[in-house]
Amino acid sequence: MCNRFIGFVLFFTAIVACAGNNTHVVFIDPGHGGEDSGYISSGGMVEKDITLSVARKIKEKLSSGDKLKVFLTRENNGYVGLRSRVKTVDDYKASLMISVHTSEKACKGNKPFCINIYCSTKRNKKSCELESSIFDSLVFDGNIDSEKMMNENFIILKSMDVPSVIIEFGEIDTLKKYNLFKDNYLRKAIDSIGNGVVKFLEVKT
Ligand SMILES: [Zn+2]
Repeated sequence: MCNRFIGFVLFFTAIVACAGNNTHVVFIDPGHGGEDSGYISSGGMVEKDITLSVARKIKEKLSSGDKLKVFLTRENNGYVGLRSRVKTVDDYKASLMISVHTSEKACKGNKPFCINIYCSTKRNKKSCELESSIFDSLVFDGNIDSEKMMNENFIILKSMDVPSVIIEFGEIDTLKKYNLFKDNYLRKAIDSIGNGVVKFLEVKT
């Protein structure tokens, strides 16, 4: 308990120390973790592993300029509760939060991959502006479907004070499909997500 508390204080202090006047702090939230595996596909794909890997890539993309300081709500495969994630992001008053998930959900069209974005206006009305900004930046290259939705029931969205969205990478149900996604589409999708974030924050990186 004590170590956890000290860990939180150090983490929080590090964030405060890193944020200058002209920088935005952005949190990327890798869904699930620890005993909470999230979705496990019949092909053996484990959601908590994919979300951590994708969140690290989004962090890398957004950290490439000097205007955004990007942090993850979980740095490794340990369990972090939803309320704790919300508190960390809100306590700092971050500029925005993106929660990363995956699912087996099929795309509406016949495209091999889909990216669904969810927002809620319950806590912060700008959440859906963030959703639109990311959606508008996604590249429609014939292989990725994207859809934006509202969902007032996701705890992390309806509880968070700062603009927040869930981005769900769909239909990654086999290792083969994941590798295809990773090799061919993930970089493009992450570039587009980054562009949407930058546009929302109106910063030049
Ligand atoms: Zn999930």
